Amino acid sequence: MKSKILEILEKNRNYVSGEEISKDIGISRAAVWKHIKKLRELGYEIDSKTNEGYKLIKSPEKQIEFELERMLDTNIIGKKILFFEEVDSTNNKAKQIALDEKEGAVVISEIQTSGRGRRGREWQSPKGGIYVSFILKPNISPQRAPQLTLVSSLALVETLNAIDGNLNAKIKWPNDVLIKGKKISGILTELSADMEKINYIVVGVGVNINTDINSLPETATSLKLEMREEISVKLFLKSFLEHYDSVYQEYLDGGINQIIQRWKDNSDTLGKNVKIMGINETYEGLAKDIDENGALILLIDNKEIKVYSGDVSLR
Ligand code: ATP
Repeated sequence: MKSKILEILEKNRNYVSGEEISKDIGISRAAVWKHIKKLRELGYEIDSKTNEGYKLIKSPEKQIEFELERMLDTNIIGKKILFFEEVDSTNNKAKQIALDEKEGAVVISEIQTSGRGRRGREWQSPKGGIYVSFILKPNISPQRAPQLTLVSSLALVETLNAIDGNLNAKIKWPNDVLIKGKKISGILTELSADMEKINYIVVGVGVNINTDINSLPETATSLKLEMREEISVKLFLKSFLEHYDSVYQEYLDGGINQIIQRWKDNSDTLGKNVKIMGINETYEGLAKDIDENGALILLIDNKEIKVYSGDVSLR
């Protein structure tokens, strides 16, 4: 109800009478007044004038959780959003609550104090970026869990390219998204499972949106830098969560093949000569393909070698 009232107030630049609102949505004028009071408590500045009604003066930027849920057009993702100004790591937070939450719940934070990359590396997470963790419970075998990294990087790259087709964002195998060769985002997929069954998968995605580039590694870029303007984090999140919802739904309905096809179309890695550092070994060869679980197929001296994402770094 609160959101219906907001919609009416947002549409009208002038005062709208309590009577009009009450007729529009079929509740009493007293109920309208009660909801207006609630909205004010949430930080909305709403003016009221006798005989004229209500007028929305300002929406609070901080009410992102409520506004996002209201703005989102999704089936699975973001039905519940937990928004924080600061956490140690959104993946940690998501893992703490994952067993009790429904699939699709999302943890979002404006800052991470201990953001992680793979193998314990640090993910710089200052204000200006956005850090999002998805709680997923697909009915697949644990071996297939790395597919969710493909799903997630595809959703992100399609979001960025939908925001601006000139960005030409690409996926660097296995878990990064690049613009002009620089890292705008990293993805960390974590799994809780027994031998046969997945309890949950948490996928964390850090994106440099309006981040001050001086606080990031030289290899990084931000959306603001690439677009030469400040980007609304709220609108970015709306688009990202909606793309994520549709790519994930496609994956659940149709399997990994079509996802892989689009992943390949957006790959920055395939067709290139690459050097991959493992814990004990280094591989150098042509990145030929990926398999259905996201392992990279390298061509080295005419032999195909598969490398798995867990233990390598691509240079
Ligand atoms: P590589 O590029 O070596 O393959 P990776 O994909 O294994 O790296 P991740 O674990 O995804 O690396 O991310 C950690 C690395 O990303 C850090 O070592 C650092 O170089 C870089 N990094 C950290 N924070 C950011 C950030 N906010 N934006 C871009 N790059 C970052």
